[in-house]
Amino acid sequence: MSLPALEDLPLSEGTRVLLRADFNVPISGGLIEDDMRIRAALPTIEWLRAQGAAVIACSHLGRPKGAPDPRYSLAPVAARLGELLGTEVALAPDVIGPDVTAMANGLGPGEVMVLENLRFHPGETAGPETEIATELGAALAALADCYVDDAFGAAHRAHASVVGPPRHIPSAAGRLLIDEVTALSRLLEDPARPFVALLGGSKVSDKIGVIDALLQRCDLLLVGGAMASTFLAAQGFPVGDSLVEFDQVEQCRSRLATGRVSVPTDAVVARDMAPDALCAVVAADGVPDGWKILDIGPSTAAGYAAEVARAGTVFWNGPMGVFEMEPFAAGTRAVAEAVATADGYTVVGGGDSAAALARFGLAEGIDHLSTGGGASLEFLEQGDLPGLRALREGKN
Ligand code: ADP
Ligand code: MG
Repeated sequence: MSLPALEDLPLSEGTRVLLRADFNVPISGGLIEDDMRIRAALPTIEWLRAQGAAVIACSHLGRPKGAPDPRYSLAPVAARLGELLGTEVALAPDVIGPDVTAMANGLGPGEVMVLENLRFHPGETAGPETEIATELGAALAALADCYVDDAFGAAHRAHASVVGPPRHIPSAAGRLLIDEVTALSRLLEDPARPFVALLGGSKVSDKIGVIDALLQRCDLLLVGGAMASTFLAAQGFPVGDSLVEFDQVEQCRSRLATGRVSVPTDAVVARDMAPDALCAVVAADGVPDGWKILDIGPSTAAGYAAEVARAGTVFWNGPMGVFEMEPFAAGTRAVAEAVATADGYTVVGGGDSAAALARFGLAEGIDHLSTGGGASLEFLEQGDLPGLRALREGKN
């Protein structure tokens, strides 16, 4: 996919660039727990600074309700970004407004500021055709001379800061956005065979579109996580108290009929989802009444790992079990190790999948670890995203 690039922007010393980044990082008690998304924005910011641009970065953080809420301030992000860049990064008092405009106008070449959380303004999520969103998009564009979108994690949302500014000022895709699109496009266009997809996580209903998109392209789809219980129910197996979406059983049955979907042959079960629960390994058709499937079993994990090892291309989304609790983490760990050590081209998308890799210390082994869970799945499903469309159709 061809997107307008940074090199195409009319930049000179002091040009103000509005950068839509994805700084939606986990914060607890004012401390950033994982700064991967901030680090991922650095190549674009450094490049812009090296051209002498003044960078006005913006992002959403969490889900404040369209009004300022100190719990969701970007202050910790501005501080961390300043540390990583080794320069002062000022935080604006608001998203837009006269004080913010004055700050932006005062920004010198190579300087960086951060706007307050975009979702403090009700226009951000109001929908692309609403007046309030259109006005916010225009006001954001008015802060700068050019716009750069590097927020892959938000590219699947037609929010004001994503689709608005390209209508007004010359716009380009940042380094991260291009990397993400390039990596995911490799899965859609002529992937090295065999192409093995691993899908886990919570719900079939959330991921049926991705299941179908992957089945059109992959040779084998390996299913784990809670969604495996729904697939096992579709095979007519008793699933005890497992998390099953009974309204998705028919959907699963037709996907199984393709002959390219593998489901667990054994499972780790417990009566309760608790870190100290008594566990057992049972055959997939032998889940006792009153027990829940909370992980794939060791024989399934070994089989999935062997398929991953043989693959030319691997895409993984969604943990194989409740990896947050040690008794149910082995399946996800085994699969994560297999993906991290595979010879084929490996792509992982999904917040919890990335968290699992980080927890097992395996993130380095992945060829492309996406910063956007929802966005990566939607890109695989649709082959395009609202944020990418906005850049292609923008005023350049
Ligand atoms: P991702 O964020 O990687 O896309 P999801 O959000 O779809 O993944 O799913 C992750 C969640 O699924 C985790 O919190 C995990 O505990 C849960 N999960 C995985 N397997 C099971 C299971 N067998 N039963 C209940 N929950 C599960
Ligand atoms: Mg998740």
